[in-house]
Amino acid sequence: MDLSIIVPLYNEEESLGELFGWIEHVMKEHGFSYEVIFVNDGSTDRSWEIIEQLSTRHPEVKGIKFRRNYGKSPALFCGFERAQGDVVVTMDADLQDSPDEIPELRRMIVEDGYDLVSGYKMNRRQGDPLSKTIPTKLFNATARFVSGIHNLHDFNCGLKAYRRDVVKNIEVYGEMHRYIPYLAKSAGFTRIGEKPVHHQARKFGKSKFMGWNRFVNGYLDLLSLWFLDSFGLKPMHVFGFIGTLMFMFGFIAALVVGGNKIYCLAQGIPARLVTDNPYFYIALTMMILGTQLFVAGFLGELISRNSTERNKYQIEREI
Ligand code: UDP
Ligand code: MG
Repeated sequence: MDLSIIVPLYNEEESLGELFGWIEHVMKEHGFSYEVIFVNDGSTDRSWEIIEQLSTRHPEVKGIKFRRNYGKSPALFCGFERAQGDVVVTMDADLQDSPDEIPELRRMIVEDGYDLVSGYKMNRRQGDPLSKTIPTKLFNATARFVSGIHNLHDFNCGLKAYRRDVVKNIEVYGEMHRYIPYLAKSAGFTRIGEKPVHHQARKFGKSKFMGWNRFVNGYLDLLSLWFLDSFGLKPMHVFGFIGTLMFMFGFIAALVVGGNKIYCLAQGIPARLVTDNPYFYIALTMMILGTQLFVAGFLGELISRNSTERNKYQIEREI
């Protein structure tokens, strides 16, 4: 099978028929063998009935129905698990992404050797309000910086194409769909490209991602990923290091404070009480915090030692 097209959707009944018609048209034109996997993420409208109707008429249509709304990442995850095509394309159901882009995305994977090609919504201004585009710019700049994938302008574009290996070897969860390129890079798929794509205003319904909290959550997710990517397998290396450093600093400071006091006593110089010395408290705090960090690192190490993931490595090939 040439292509698997995964469409996560939540209450998009108006768009589905038109979307499938458009995909089918493009696929026929290029003669691709394909499947379209609609993942119904707990829609409360008629979306699932429409998917059922489509699947009775078209064998290419497959559907997954969640019992409740879990989110876009879980929907993508289940689609990825089921995908059979050599190239896997994800797209939003709201007709904002154009199926006309699929053949070129596929060509970039198959011929240019990319592992992942992300869409780049260049003509965004026509579609979304400023309150959405400005934070998005900031978000992308941070994501580029943290992930080290400097050639991506638009991490969160719903239209992306992947080599099948990629989707079978990454685990999208929570709200991590925003960082799939980063997940792919962490898993060792480094040939990541970008293609400017057409992007239209939403025709029906309204955006399912609104408000500012998505940026706060987005940044926290990015922080988690960065941490997991850098230290997930060796927590002791960060916590242990910082903890030991702090403890040493505190210990030496305590020695200096104590030594000074003893020296003064021996020489008969009047000196203030150790507990009147601010350095004493700084030293104490440093030693306590240092010990705590060290223990945190050790606990992290114990947890990672027991995790089922501890020996999961990406093996590309064996002979
Ligand atoms: N979506 C989903 N589950 C959710 C929220 C959204 O499957 O909980 C789907 C939605 O139906 C659409 C895609 O994710 O197909 C992108 O959502 P939306 O268009 O609302 O996001 P935006 O384009 O505004 O970023
Ligand atoms: Mg949309």
